[in-house]
Amino acid sequence: MAIVLSGKELSEQLTQEQKKRVEELAKQGIYPGLAVVLVGEDPASQIYVRNKGIACETIGIHSVTIRLDADISQEDLENKIKELNEDRKISGILVQLPLPKHLNEEAALSCILPEKDVDGFHLINAGKLFTGQTGVTPCTPKGVMYMLKQAGINLVGKEAVVIGRSNIVGKPAAMLLLNEHCTVTILHSRTKNLAEHTKRADILIAAIGKARFVTADMVKPGAVVIDVGINRVDGKVVGDVDYEEVEKVAGYITPVPGGVGKMTISMLMENTIEAACAQAR
Ligand code: NDP
Repeated sequence: MAIVLSGKELSEQLTQEQKKRVEELAKQGIYPGLAVVLVGEDPASQIYVRNKGIACETIGIHSVTIRLDADISQEDLENKIKELNEDRKISGILVQLPLPKHLNEEAALSCILPEKDVDGFHLINAGKLFTGQTGVTPCTPKGVMYMLKQAGINLVGKEAVVIGRSNIVGKPAAMLLLNEHCTVTILHSRTKNLAEHTKRADILIAAIGKARFVTADMVKPGAVVIDVGINRVDGKVVGDVDYEEVEKVAGYITPVPGGVGKMTISMLMENTIEAACAQAR
């Protein structure tokens, strides 16, 4: 049976550490602040935004949620972001995705000052990650790397296979694994003989968005299986990995819920604190 990598436990530890750090920073006159911009009333987005607010409150980070009408113009949205760029109480800005169809996400994200871009989606931060420079790392893949590190998993020379090539998860996860000297393969919807690749993986990251897509026969015995997926099936949240079967084969596995999702929020807090420190410098 696989060892379960609990994001819940790790995030609880991190919360305690972050609380202390925020208190210490306050003594130096540094106050991290997060602004979350929510456009429209997408139910899933509302839940994510609420959870981010709760996390800030728990740690002692000032947070504001800017709620904007679903029919806001691109110009008004960008002006709001620019206002937040100027706001000295705000060290991190996050635009909750997806935006309504009529808005240009890339243009909106580009308006965020790269040093306040706590999601790490700005082209400057993406470019820094790609070229191995220090920028802001996207929260979900950063959380994945944190889990691997905390579990003491040696990555050097390992075969890492990432299923999914989104700018938010798949590509940055692949880049972080490459920076840690893994040999990385990225799979996607046009990949042929997908299982042949996954069966080679020492580290298998699933970021697909398809419930229980990764089955036991696709996994090398003893592999580290990280499930990023969040899917709702019959009112239940399940990952991209068939957990019950894969845990019998894998060496390590992350549960859903209670795995990567918890780490994502912890890393958002981390990025917000780091942004405040960088801005104070
Ligand atoms: P996207 O929809 O942007 O990307 C999905 C990727 O999976 C694409 O690259 C797509 O390939 C690939 N894919 C889809 N179907 C297949 C298939 N049959 N075979 C191989 N590859 C396939 O999703 P995200 O990256 O944003 O998110 C992935 C999952 O992670 C979702 O469930 C999402 O909810 C979850 N998520 C969880 C987070 C957390 O905190 N735990 C944070 C962010 C996301 P192609 O490019 O060819 O279309």
